[in-house]
Amino acid sequence: MVRRTEWLFTWFVNNIYIILYSLREFLNLLLKKNLKLKHFKTSMPKTILVTGGAGFIGSNLCEFLLEKESAKIICLDNFFTGKKENIASLLKNQNFVFVEKDIVDPILFDEKIDQIYNLACPASPIHYQANPIRTIKINTIGVINTLGLAKKHNARILQSSTSEIYGDPLVHPQTEDYKGNVNPIGPRACYDEGKRIAESLFFEYHRNHKLDIRVARIFNTYGPKMAKNDGRVVSNFILQAINNDDITIYGDGKQTRSFCYISDMVEGLYRLMNQDYVGPINLGNPEELTILQIAEKILELTESKSKLIFKDIPQDDPHRRKPDITLAKNKLNWQPVIPLNDGLIKTIESFKSVLS
Ligand code: UDP
Repeated sequence: MVRRTEWLFTWFVNNIYIILYSLREFLNLLLKKNLKLKHFKTSMPKTILVTGGAGFIGSNLCEFLLEKESAKIICLDNFFTGKKENIASLLKNQNFVFVEKDIVDPILFDEKIDQIYNLACPASPIHYQANPIRTIKINTIGVINTLGLAKKHNARILQSSTSEIYGDPLVHPQTEDYKGNVNPIGPRACYDEGKRIAESLFFEYHRNHKLDIRVARIFNTYGPKMAKNDGRVVSNFILQAINNDDITIYGDGKQTRSFCYISDMVEGLYRLMNQDYVGPINLGNPEELTILQIAEKILELTESKSKLIFKDIPQDDPHRRKPDITLAKNKLNWQPVIPLNDGLIKTIESFKSVLS
């Protein structure tokens, strides 16, 4: 008798996740019949979908969620800019599932999805300009597909919007109520206008279908798992410095950006998803630097012999960018904590280890 009880107890402990999961699925079936069990439902293990989950921010977010939540994490990616290496270590985790898919195609899941982080979209200028019409499709058809999925599952959905929706800003620093200065027919428009219409779609689903949305406006972010070939300033300069190649400054290098380390960004996204404020909300580091200053910092930290060379500045390249994060401080109790030097050292180390 004692042995049987022990065996039963061990079986129960070993299968607790499956039991809770099955119970939740069962309750979801009941819920469709409008039984009022909502408070019970929220205490069940969650299923979280991360679209673009093999990309730079997506893969770091999946890793964070696996540590933070006792949830099943479904990572969806079509590997256009995402990388298998970014999620290779996560595949060993039994709570992590990968689905190879493009959000422009219809998305269906039988199991209940509770939260969706929509990060699927190429985000660096050379990547989103490589196939601009596809970038527009991702931000229209793809976003409608993802919103439709959230509606079907009654899931909360977070959109990764961007500082690019402010274009070449005439207000500095940028507050969320600034409407922006975007060239609708320039080479950046596929992304800038794409992300603007995506925000419009999110708010229409919110107003018309009562969809539970969150909108984050992500400013320049850097850190381990950045794609080496994305042409961004931090990845380009680190690679050039490590290899003692010329550092390519576009224009006079007096344009500014503000760089947020990836762990700060992921924490901000998580807080936004799990608190009540809908957004839009700026997430970024307000420490502003010129491109020349970031080049000098990277040269110093890598002890590189590289020289600066000056090249033509790309059309519509924003002159200044710095987030006002008052709203994020007030609503999410969030602000970046990783100093630029520390973040750059970690990023340089990760690039060196990948290269070696
Ligand atoms: N940039 C540069 N050299 C490079 C790559 C970028 O001077 O090798 C400049 C670029 O013109 C822009 C800034 O760095 O002014 C940031 O570019 P990035 O592509 O990283 O991001 P953006 O903020 O423009 O989307």
